[in-house]
Parts: sequence; structure tokens; C-alpha cells
Amino acid sequence: MFDLHGRKINKLRISLSEACNMACTYCVSSLHDHKRDPDELKAKQIISLVHMLKDHAGIEKIRLTGGEPLLYPNLIQVIAGIREMGLSSIGMTTNGQLLARKAEALAKAGLKSVNLSLDSLQPEKFKSLGRVGKLYKTLEGIEACLQNGLSVKVNMVVIKGENENEIVDMLEYGLTHGIEIRFLELMAMGPLYKKDDYKLVSMHEMLERISARFTVKPVSADQDSTSLRYWVPGGYFGIIPNNSAPFCSTCSRLRLTSNGQLIGCLSNPTPISIHHLLNHPDPADALQKIVKKSISYKQDFAFTGSALVMSRVGG
Ligand code: SAM
Repeated sequence: MFDLHGRKINKLRISLSEACNMACTYCVSSLHDHKRDPDELKAKQIISLVHMLKDHAGIEKIRLTGGEPLLYPNLIQVIAGIREMGLSSIGMTTNGQLLARKAEALAKAGLKSVNLSLDSLQPEKFKSLGRVGKLYKTLEGIEACLQNGLSVKVNMVVIKGENENEIVDMLEYGLTHGIEIRFLELMAMGPLYKKDDYKLVSMHEMLERISARFTVKPVSADQDSTSLRYWVPGGYFGIIPNNSAPFCSTCSRLRLTSNGQLIGCLSNPTPISIHHLLNHPDPADALQKIVKKSISYKQDFAFTGSALVMSRVGG
């Protein structure tokens, strides 16, 4: 489906659950902010909604996220159900804490790619940024993904005075393991919304640090990619410049919350429920109207901030 600005919307991000086993300081104010929604969708309901969105709204690519998707009880069932309907592009974004023992089953069910959130390679810093969680568990999760043939990317949110001194270390870790690292600019969401100084490290500052150590050359990325891509000797890395060079103009995403609401835009998150369509004998028309409405909220150009936390909208 196309939005008012002519953008093709074909990717769906599903926040399977708002529950999370970490509480990253830039994402939430405390672990208690990650509450499982009492009306969280069951696996069968998620599969039905994805089916409808595929058949009637042109959704082709799925990313499972949250909250923490590995806390969703029937994750394997969801993945297998999505694969059975013929969608093969199934990715997941995770903190990786529970990944080591699940990676094999996830790959067998049909998961293709995993984006791991990893903000520090120093155990103490990892703990202070995430409040909960252990570095070695995420690193073991990454290893398990690689061993099971899953495509892996690592996302590092760069925060002034916290982990900006680790940018080069993280890139070297990626190059050693054949993993593309993507450095994210902080977004003014949740606890950071309307804060004057939210410890932003700009894309230019990131590039400065990397260029001091490596020869860096820009290369082209997928047309609707959120990241700018660069070559360095031995591999590639990306920067997701939410502020410096917003990717709104090529946005192809729609989001589904854990309780069955569609959100068309991070900056303008006006949720519209599609839960009731689960009982509809012929949902096509109603669904298309809702999807059109939802994507009509999409911003034309730049992310302007949001009070909602990422785990609600599906980060
Ligand atoms: N729990 C999973 C994880 O940690 O990957 C999935 C959900 S998490 C909300 C998804 C991504 O959103 C993570 O990479 C996290 O770093 C990012 N994120 C959350 N709040 C952010 C913010 N204010 N700015 C930039 N990225 C943010």
C-alpha cells in the first residue's frame, strides 16, 4: 500500500510484548515501565492479523520486537505461522539475553535475521546502561545466531559521556566477527522526550571517531533502509542518524502493538485497533481503511519526538 507521500509501505514491526528483561536508561525510567499488556495478543491472533495485512495491505517483511520478543511465550509458533503463509523475510530485534539456548529452534522455525542491541563491550557499562542483564549472555546469543546460520547485525545506541569512547572497539568487534555494526543516534522518545540535553552523539561525531582510526567510504544502502552504510577495510558499518539525517522520507514501516493496534508513525503515534477484525468474516475493506488512516499519520520528513516508549510502539 502507498501513503500520501507515495511511499510504499510493506514492512511490519510487531511488538510481541511490552515486557522486557532489561531497562535501558534511554528507553524507560525504570523496569516497571515495561508492563505486559493484559490484552496481549495470542500467537494465533498475531498470525491471523499478519495474514490479513499480507493479503489486503501488501505487507511483505516482518520484524518481531518489543519489549523483549524472547519473553513472548509462543514465539516459535508465531515465526512458524508467518513462514507458513509464505513470508520469508522474518527478522527479530532482541537484547539477546535469552538467545543462546533458543537460536537453533528459532532458525529452524524460519527466523532469518537478528538485530542485537548491544551498547557496550564492558561488563560494568553494559550493566549500568541496561540496569539489568549480563554482557556475556548477549555475546553468547550472538555466537549462537552465527552458528545457526542466522544473519546478524548489532545495534549500538551511542550516548554522550557513556559509551561514545567504545565506538571504535565495537566496530573492531564487528569486523572480527563478520558482523555489521549499526550506530544509532539517540531518539527523543519516552524518558528523553522534550529533554533539552539528552546526550545525543551526532552522526558527524561518530564518523569523526571512526575516521581517526579507519579509512571510511560511504556506500549505497537499500532504498528504504534506515541506515547510512559505510565501507572500512575489512567490512561495513552503518549509522542510523535519526536526528542528523532522518530517514522518514523513505519510511516503509507500519507497527502493530502487542494488544492489536496499528501505529503508522513514530512521531505521530495515533494507535488504531484492528483487534476487532479478528472476528470479521470479510475484513478486507475495513482493514484497508484502517491501514490507510494509520499511514496517513506518517510524517513527511523528520522525527519530531514522542512521549511513548519504544517497547510500546515496537522499537
Ligand atoms: N528488547 C529488544 C532490544 O533490546 O533489542 C527490542 C526492543 S528495543 C525497544 C529496540 C531498539 O530500540 C533497541 O535497539 C534500543 O536500543 C532502541 N531504542 C530504545 N529507545 C531508544 C531511543 N530513545 N533512541 C534510540 N534507540 C532506542
